[in-house]
Amino acid sequence: MLKKALLVVDYTVDFVAVDGALTCGKPGIALEEYITELTEQFLDEQHFVVMPVDLHELEDPYHPETKQFPPHNIRGTAGRDLYGSLQNVYEKRKEAIYWMDKTRFSAFAGTDLELQLRSRAITEIHLVGVCTDICILHTAVDAYNRGFTIVIHEKGVASFDAEGHAWALRHFENTLGATIIK
Ligand code: ZN
Repeated sequence: MLKKALLVVDYTVDFVAVDGALTCGKPGIALEEYITELTEQFLDEQHFVVMPVDLHELEDPYHPETKQFPPHNIRGTAGRDLYGSLQNVYEKRKEAIYWMDKTRFSAFAGTDLELQLRSRAITEIHLVGVCTDICILHTAVDAYNRGFTIVIHEKGVASFDAEGHAWALRHFENTLGATIIK
């Protein structure tokens, strides 16, 4: 069987919960069931499941996001827990899940993601999480530049910015040649 990867990008309390530090709100909350079920399906089929999760240090003077955004996903805080039922799946099945701290929008920036994918001979990457037009977009662009095949699950991605979300979906399909699963 051809092994695929599922990247569940930044589906954390700070990015999704109503009171999250940098929340995308309702559109993000609405993904919970789809993302949790897809994660279980990929685990059941023994694909490679990765949780790329933003990591910041409080008031880091060297990080470009410090000036742009309120503090979020700070090391050691509950804001970095996965949101809702996804956290339960993670706790139950964490030996089979690759947790990956990332510090930039793209899951490829400064991480060993590419090495992990290449060592498993994975060429097809499925993306879900938030935000469609920020971390999903930057990860998809990097995947494209590295020659991976990209699959975007429309019911598994969301943004606080409806226009940005719609634009990014067109960009994935028309420019990055991604398959969009409706
Ligand atoms: Zn961040």
